[in-house]
Order: sequence, then C-alpha cells, then structure tokens
Amino acid sequence: MVFEVSWSDGVLVENDGIRMLLDPSRFTNISANYFFISHAHKDHTSGFMENNKIKYSTTQTISLFEGMFKKKVKNAVSCVYGQPSDLHKLELKIVNSGHVFGSGALVLTDRDVTFLYTGDFNFTDTLTQKAITPIECDILVVETTYGRPNFTFPPREDVYYDIVEWTAKTIKENNLPIFLVYPIGKAQEITKLFNLFTTIPVVTHPAISKANEIVNKFGDTLTYYDLLIDGAELIKSKNCVALFPSTFSPKILKSTYPCAKIAVATGWTLLYSNKNIDASFALSGHADFPQLIQFIKACRPKMVYTIHGYASDFAIRLNKMGIHAKPLFR
Ligand SMILES: [Zn+2]
Repeated sequence: MVFEVSWSDGVLVENDGIRMLLDPSRFTNISANYFFISHAHKDHTSGFMENNKIKYSTTQTISLFEGMFKKKVKNAVSCVYGQPSDLHKLELKIVNSGHVFGSGALVLTDRDVTFLYTGDFNFTDTLTQKAITPIECDILVVETTYGRPNFTFPPREDVYYDIVEWTAKTIKENNLPIFLVYPIGKAQEITKLFNLFTTIPVVTHPAISKANEIVNKFGDTLTYYDLLIDGAELIKSKNCVALFPSTFSPKILKSTYPCAKIAVATGWTLLYSNKNIDASFALSGHADFPQLIQFIKACRPKMVYTIHGYASDFAIRLNKMGIHAKPLFR
C-alpha cells in the first residue's frame, strides 16, 4: 500500500518519508514530522501542547483550543474545510466530520490512492453541524465508538422533542432543569435547540459561555446568559434551563441548587444509568451502529482500520460482510 498505517499514541500514517501522527494522545512520538488534530475535545488535543511539530487543523479547532485551554498553538497550519494544500507530493484536505464545531476528517491523496481518517464523526445532520459526506477512498481509518448494534439512536427530532418536553415540565413543577454536557459540541446543540424552538432562557457555566462565545465569533447567533454574569437572577427564578460541563457531580449540583433536576444527553445512556440523574437523552455527536455501516459502505474502501470503542468487534463484523478490516490497538 502507498500508505502505511499503525498505532503509535495516535494513528500513524506514513507515505514515502512523511510520517503524520493523527490525534496523538501524548506527544512523545518524536519520529513523526507532522500532527493532525481533528477537533477540540480534550482527548484529541495533546498534540497542540507540543511546540515544534507542524500541526494541521481547522481554524475553528485552533481557536476553540486556544480560547478554552488558554494556550497559544505554535507551528499550526490553519486549514479551511475542503481547501486542498500540498504536503510534499501528497494532497492534504480537511473536510467537515459533523462531530462538533470545527471538527475535521483528513483526506490524503497520493496520485490515485486516497486515505481517509474520520476522527470523531457524525453521519446525521444536527441543529449545529452538517453530517460528514462520504468520500470514496482506498484506506479508511474510522472511529467505532458506538460500534455495536445496540447503539441505534432514535430519530434526532424525537430526542429534541423529549428534551424540550422534559425541560418545560420541570420548570412548570418549579424545579431547575440542569443539563450536564460537553462544553464543546452538545452545549452548542442544546443552546441552539432552546433558542430555536422555545422562549426558555439558557444559562451557561463560564466554560460553556466561552465555547459559545468562540462559536459566535465565527458567525453563529447562540443566545445564552452566563451563570456568573447575567444568568444569576434567572437561576434564582428557576425560569430557565442551565448547562454545566459533564465533569460536574450531580450530587454537588443538587446540594448547591436544591430544586435541581439533572439530565444528561449522550449516546452512552443506552448502556449506563446513574441514580443521581433524573433524565437521560440519547443525543450523540457520533455515528451510531447503522450509520457506521452505511458510511463505510458509501466510502467503498479497500481496507478499513477501526479505532476507539468496539474496534475489534466491529472489524470482525465488517470482515463477515466482505469488507477487509482490522482494529488498530492502543
Ligand atoms: Zn470528540
């Protein structure tokens, strides 16, 4: 194969002396000449902490990282979706992956051979992101976070409806609805949901306000009230919905806000439950099992490498379907 693919604290792709490490989880691999950072979630951005490597990423992802983690990225190549650039004899392109604001899939082309790395991706339109577009490729590295058939998400519109209904009911009962969400991704989607379809004000924890502010700088119009600034009175009145980072403990929130009802919005709700959570909604930024299969078939790859989640399991399923696949282990 023109591209060699292996795991080395990230996906290492090699082509004729070029060694690019994709979403390194640490930055100890000194033999890679380039990094690619697919999106601004913390488990994908270690590469930004390294100062000397050349890092390819989207302008949006770099801005989110710099704003959220207060660190200037050095030696970054800031890319625009769909605009090809030359990397020695390769063509390099980042395309929208549909996961969160700024998230990108990487396309490398060597003459007529195409390599595609999805990063985290979603194959359905959401209120804030367009679904990834399948790309015909020879080698596909695909994330399989939800790579088992039990991860089949309900229609997104139904989930949106359930979220709004539960929130309205909670407010009506004189309680405070709080969603625990990722500050990058789910927070913008839920802010947008309430902005578009309700008059319920959205109060955001400062980390989420920061992410919303950066997204708005790129042209979105998210409306929100910061918990420590203009949202404090709204919280007291309980006539609002509050968004906190998912790292917050439901127990601590309930002791701070005795009327709080806590909800989560994640695909994992199909597998796990938590007695301190009052409501859970299967809203995910990732492709579910049927979408993974549909996406891979549409890309018509000759070879598939699976990463994250049920990588081995999913690769076995693909092989049974006649699609040559192998997991890349951490
Ligand atoms: Zn992610």
